[in-house]
Amino acid sequence: MKALVTGGAGFLGSHLVEKLLSHGFDVIVVDNLCTGSLSNLESVKSRITFFQEDVRYFMPRQKTDIVFHFACPASPVQYQKDPVFTIETSVLGTKTVLEYCKAHMSRLVFASTSEVYGDPLEHPQKETYFGNVNTLGPRACYDEGKRAAETFCFIYNSLYKVPVTIVRIFNTYGPRMDPHDGRVVSNFIVQSLRGGDLTVYGDGSQTRSFCYVSDLIDGIIRIARHNTEFEVLNLGNDEEYSIIELAKTILELTGCKNNIIHLPPQIDDPVRRKPDISKARRLLDWHPKVDLRSGLASTIEYFRSLI
Ligand code: UDP
Repeated sequence: MKALVTGGAGFLGSHLVEKLLSHGFDVIVVDNLCTGSLSNLESVKSRITFFQEDVRYFMPRQKTDIVFHFACPASPVQYQKDPVFTIETSVLGTKTVLEYCKAHMSRLVFASTSEVYGDPLEHPQKETYFGNVNTLGPRACYDEGKRAAETFCFIYNSLYKVPVTIVRIFNTYGPRMDPHDGRVVSNFIVQSLRGGDLTVYGDGSQTRSFCYVSDLIDGIIRIARHNTEFEVLNLGNDEEYSIIELAKTILELTGCKNNIIHLPPQIDDPVRRKPDISKARRLLDWHPKVDLRSGLASTIEYFRSLI
């Protein structure tokens, strides 16, 4: 089997590339390195074909059986830096990928996001929930970009029978996160190890459900093996924690005594987020295995080796 991974030099993409190689896939990577890094592919660089290209305008000539479309800045700090680029990468990039899939009749696994649910009014979030998204806020370039990209997937499946699985990925963490990408897990660990204050936005009562990267990648591989014409699936961990609990757990695990400070809340920051993963459990026989404390311990080890 030949696979193409867009965004394959990123945090999730590079873990996926390694796993696909270990399952015997030939792998092509397309990444413009806007947030990814070649160092993430260091251990596999001799075994892949790599194109440093922008997915809005480029797909390779080679045919592949399955495309994993992961290219897009994904942390709020990164995706808000250049909102035009972000929304174009989701919308135009996904159209470019779908045209390729249509031409080669390749299967598409599209990396969507829990952000399509916005600040959810339904809890936990099921795939059937339509979401509560502000089209005019600072997160809209990402949320609405991914929503439009999902619609493109739906249209190409309906009109041209391109087989698509849309994966709505909930907060995922682990080794190879970029220390500068501004996500809560990496921020708190880096702040903790560098002796800085842990910056909680708002009162810290907002919640997230954190999935360890190996669990997420296991789910994606199961999706690759599960042949369907069209499917939408949540993948994530369904244990819910407040951000203040996360800060305290990280301090406990690092053994550091930093202060926790409160900064103004972020605009449109979702108040609660937790996936309903019953569909993935049923269809893929998948469930997350790594609890938060074990996953954080491995992630802290990784950041210790960097800092
Ligand atoms: N957050 C925080 N301090 C930080 C970074 C993030 O309190 O230094 C909060 C943020 O306001 C949000 C949650 O942590 O409520 C998760 O933020 P992240 O940027 O990791 O991803 P999101 O789930 O918002 O896309």
